[in-house]
Amino acid sequence: NKFVFVTGGVMSGLGKGITAASTGRLLKNAGFDVTAVKIDPYLNVDAGTMNPFQHGEVYVLKDGGEVDLDLGNYERFLDEDMTFDHNVTTGKTYKHVIEKERAGDYLGKTVQIIPHITDDIKRRIREAAEGTDVCLVEVGGTVGDIEGMPYLEALRQFAHEQDENDILFTHVTLVPYSKNGEQKTKPTQHSVKELRSIGLQPDILVGRCEDKLDPDVKEKIALFCDVPTDAVFSNPDVDDIYHVPLMVEEEGLDEYVMEQLGLAERALPAEER
Ligand code: ADP
Repeated sequence: NKFVFVTGGVMSGLGKGITAASTGRLLKNAGFDVTAVKIDPYLNVDAGTMNPFQHGEVYVLKDGGEVDLDLGNYERFLDEDMTFDHNVTTGKTYKHVIEKERAGDYLGKTVQIIPHITDDIKRRIREAAEGTDVCLVEVGGTVGDIEGMPYLEALRQFAHEQDENDILFTHVTLVPYSKNGEQKTKPTQHSVKELRSIGLQPDILVGRCEDKLDPDVKEKIALFCDVPTDAVFSNPDVDDIYHVPLMVEEEGLDEYVMEQLGLAERALPAEER
């Protein structure tokens, strides 16, 4: 299995989910079996008890799982059915670990976030990815949130345990315009610094901006965030989110991901897609 981990910086609601789903769509177009995992770092076990005015409509999966709307995006973009196991929440993970603790499964050990919670997170990701070529894993929230820390630590360990070519970290950030009309990279630089402070170096940066990123802005992001310029992509505002896969394809995101994951030679020729 190959994994694309998607994190977000600066603020939430940037389009991490849409970026991840678009990446998945393009990989699927290239002939790969793709699935997705949405991580929600809240303590609710599932979205079924959450106020829709605050959180949006509850999305109900075929197996009855009550989840975040993002899973709906994955189902529609990927044209794949998701199950309750494709949604990892803090509530689910802790509940499972605490139930195991009560049953005596840890044989007297001190039960801790590291390794017991992080091991459970890694297990859930691996199980959801079984039988597919590529699994997209989106971490909800923003890098630096206390709730997200065990997940980012789990992903760090996950990457350490897998072959280097099997994992890609994509970080989605905001590139705002200043009053004088310049695209500003500082928020991106800061959020990458935050990621690095917990041991994660992004491989790909996606800048959400009103427009496409200027070439010199991409170069600046590449230099300060220590990635090749080719690894910086734009996710500009569009009227219809179903245009996002085409937008990122135009910039070559799919080719870059396939090349980095060693999938390029396995992609189907265009006429067979
Ligand atoms: P996150 O996962 O970062 O919270 P989402 O992917 O759920 O963000 O997107 C947040 C909102 O922004 C959604 O309503 C989505 O439809 C919208 N959105 C995402 N990408 C774009 C884009 N390129 N242009 C316009 N709207 C977008």
